[in-house]
Amino acid sequence: MAKKPRARSETGLSRRSFLAAAGSGAATTLLLKVSPLVQEKTYNPALIRPPGSLAEKDFLTKCVRCGECMKVCPTNAIHPTTHQAGLAGIWSPLLIFAVGYCEYNCTLCGQVCPTGAIEELSVEEKQQVHIGTAYVDRSRCLPFVFDTECIVCEEHCPTPTKAIWFEEVTVRDRDGNEKVLKQPHVDPELCIGCGICETKCPVNDSAAIIVTSGGETRNPDNQFLLSSSPYG
Ligand code: SF4
Ligand code: SF4
Ligand code: SF4
Repeated sequence: MAKKPRARSETGLSRRSFLAAAGSGAATTLLLKVSPLVQEKTYNPALIRPPGSLAEKDFLTKCVRCGECMKVCPTNAIHPTTHQAGLAGIWSPLLIFAVGYCEYNCTLCGQVCPTGAIEELSVEEKQQVHIGTAYVDRSRCLPFVFDTECIVCEEHCPTPTKAIWFEEVTVRDRDGNEKVLKQPHVDPELCIGCGICETKCPVNDSAAIIVTSGGETRNPDNQFLLSSSPYG
């Protein structure tokens, strides 16, 4: 026998109150999704904070959205967030490498921050801070996808031992002619996420090397490297 549908009186919900409850539930779910304070294990790859920034909870508590770090950045890399840090983080600073990059010898944002949301670091300290990690997109990088020579990202990489290194490969063009190409790779231990490789990449519409927040020093949980030992 078919199951008798529940009458309205059994559920205790009128259509209007059901819709109101559903609406408020959806709004609550949305708020929970967009608030980084309640989703501490969810990391936005685009949320790259200035070097010296505190861990996210403390950063959001201290940052007063004054914009001083944005004004002082010499490459115009720092911009206000819209959605990237959730509702709690609106207008706080993040780096956009399509516009500018973090200059290797600069510590200005930490010097001007009035609240300590960005710690004041020496140049040497700042150069040890990872704000993210670069990834080569092999479906867009010229030596991978079009067999075209390009070493721009490696040329700009500022770390003393370059975080970008090349593998030499021999390829054949459509006529069967052999050609030796250098294909870039990123060493995640050396990459500090400065983003100059992304800014300067000649693939203009959407760079073939991009930096995400993974590996950022300020967040010990937002890491991705597996231990080299299988026993941890
Ligand atoms: S350290 Fe200098 S270049 Fe880097 S984000 Fe801060 S102000 Fe910009
Ligand atoms: S200078 Fe400091 S307080 Fe002001 S917006 Fe930047 S991080 Fe926030
Ligand atoms: S972000 Fe790019 S340029 Fe900067 S250290 Fe990493 S690989 Fe080098």
